[in-house]
Amino acid sequence: MGAEFATSRYTFRIPLSTGYALFNASTGSVLRMDGGDADELSALLSGARTWISEESLGQQLTATLRRGGFLIDAAFDELAGVRARYWAARGHAPVVLLVTTTMDCNLGCYYCYESRSSDALTVQDVDKLVAIANDRLKRNHKQSLHVDWYGGEPLMNLSFLEQASEALQSLCRTQKVAYHASVISNGTHWPNDVGSFVKQHQIRQVQISFDGLAANHNRRRRYRPGYQSDDGQASFTKAAALVGRLLQHTRVDIRFNADHGNADDLAGFIEFAKEEGWFAAPFRCVLFVAKLSAYSDRSAFLRPHELSPERFDELQALARRTLPAEALDEENVIAGFPQPRTSVCGALASDSAVVGADGLEYRCGLQVGETHRAVGRFGGRQNLLLQPQEFIDRGWWERFDPTELPTCSNCSFLPICWGGCPKRHLDGDSSDVDIEGRYWRTNLPRMIADGLGERTSDGCVLSTADQFRE
Ligand code: SF4
Ligand code: SF4
Repeated sequence: MGAEFATSRYTFRIPLSTGYALFNASTGSVLRMDGGDADELSALLSGARTWISEESLGQQLTATLRRGGFLIDAAFDELAGVRARYWAARGHAPVVLLVTTTMDCNLGCYYCYESRSSDALTVQDVDKLVAIANDRLKRNHKQSLHVDWYGGEPLMNLSFLEQASEALQSLCRTQKVAYHASVISNGTHWPNDVGSFVKQHQIRQVQISFDGLAANHNRRRRYRPGYQSDDGQASFTKAAALVGRLLQHTRVDIRFNADHGNADDLAGFIEFAKEEGWFAAPFRCVLFVAKLSAYSDRSAFLRPHELSPERFDELQALARRTLPAEALDEENVIAGFPQPRTSVCGALASDSAVVGADGLEYRCGLQVGETHRAVGRFGGRQNLLLQPQEFIDRGWWERFDPTELPTCSNCSFLPICWGGCPKRHLDGDSSDVDIEGRYWRTNLPRMIADGLGERTSDGCVLSTADQFRE
């Protein structure tokens, strides 16, 4: 009797105009099946675990299915394979320092969950930042340092940013490791010569947020009392002009923050971006839609403003239909198909850190200012009451492993999802975690069909039975 193989728990079946596509989330392989027994065989391969003999399929088809990971040796532990990849990614991730230069901001967005305090890093903190970077680079012999300047509005503390940037670049030259930076900004407080600024500080990406077209954006992003624009222009005009200038020198990611009040602006905003020439500039412009949501208790007041999952899907579909392909940024999509994950967010990267302007270290930028979420002391402010034993989340972050969670370990999206945002798990909000499953059930069929130059039938979504199977 010939060898027997098990079906993979990570195979999905997507109906096409003729036949099916099989996609294996653990290997990223895609296989098209047509013909008489395509229906039965694809159902077998994407269903509950079963054993199939080489004799029944024939040598050639068996070999093809084994190469793609659709059939595996019966003793092979697929979950352990995903776990090994996950921990390797945490250890191998480059060093990323997300540095909150200040909690101050010149705009008063209604949804801003950051506490606008006077906390800011000072030039006396530069040496401490360099010491952190040096430690993180050395302990696992890392070859690159990426700094993400963050706030508040990071450019409101320009003197610190410039001195810290020079010092960190100098460290990297001495250590012979690569250096690059990015900025998350509201786009209203930049130096005039952005070309020199970008070059001097090796900024390879800038994220600028918009809250709709001018009327909505300016109403939501008003200057706070005492923080007027230097030239009298409203925040939309300032930010839009900056995007045009930045795109001559570096990549810009446009984040369109959507809620009930501005969702109807998206189509017009994309038209505006096209007319401004943002997608034909020397550097790449990516536009993505973000749902304004309550990330923490501090922002729970946002719940009534949140878009429903269906409305958010509509906006994303609109963006996909109307944006040029290079302006879309679908995570982990290579050559048209989703790929098994090989990288983690900065919060999970073993050698990365979030430096708060309050002198505390966090794992995720969205936690800055939530002192009970801190995982260590950076050393900036000395008057904090927290003692090392009070950094109770530290162990949670060190141990977090989606392959050990009851839900994710049984989920067939696990290799392409890795549990989604770990902060959602820490916050314990199961409805937030469910969003990931919904995303994949709704979008995976379209992604696979797109990659094959096909369309799925309207409304083709995977089921929870496809996601969680015996
Ligand atoms: S924990 Fe979530 S929000 Fe924070 S960096 Fe990771 S993915 Fe982003
Ligand atoms: S889709 Fe949901 S259950 Fe599946 S791995 Fe992602 S977060 Fe976990």
